[in-house]
Amino acid sequence: MRLLVIEDEKQLLKLIGKRLKEEGYVFDLASDGKEGLNFAESVEYDCIILDIMLPFIDGFTIIQKLRSKNINSPIIILTAKSAIKDKVIGLDYGADDYITKPFSFEELIARIRAMLRRKLDEKETVMTYEDLTLDLISREVYRNNIRIELTTKEFAILEYFLRNKGRILTKSQIAEHVWNYEFVYQSNIIEVYIRYLRKKIDDNFEKKLINTVRGVGYKLQ
Ligand code: CA
Repeated sequence: MRLLVIEDEKQLLKLIGKRLKEEGYVFDLASDGKEGLNFAESVEYDCIILDIMLPFIDGFTIIQKLRSKNINSPIIILTAKSAIKDKVIGLDYGADDYITKPFSFEELIARIRAMLRRKLDEKETVMTYEDLTLDLISREVYRNNIRIELTTKEFAILEYFLRNKGRILTKSQIAEHVWNYEFVYQSNIIEVYIRYLRKKIDDNFEKKLINTVRGVGYKLQ
């Protein structure tokens, strides 16, 4: 799962990023409308947190542009307390929820979680393969009923594998899906993370699930 936050108050953006990191989300941060729209058009986000008053392109225009291009990522708008009409306009344009500034981070996280749950309900919230299960909401992973603790990146890689059971994933595909824009692609970093993941998922079990396809990538099989 990957989130996008578009907010021009740098301090607030930083704090939201810090909090999302603590919650274990993979996310991108944009500090103006142009950059934000650019991100939202090039990556399929699972939730977008969008401020309305933004430099270059405002939040309403961003919603309209995305929806007109059939980009249907759930959007939570951030609105100033005084601007009640913003909520109405935002929702009319196709936003899914709103939160009023100033807000508590608990509330923002709860709303993001609700949004992801709603989005995931349409798909599956618990993904399984053989004796492996991954719960996208509680973020718990089990193999053969044994709880396995994963870091954010390991979890994201495993989720990506589960979404692509039996398909070969190249290192660059994994990088693109699991890391954000600040990441400079190095194939050895992916190898390192795959090694970490194998240690937790496969080492203590007879049947190995993560397989190397020599010269190409990896696959869950
Ligand atoms: Ca603003």
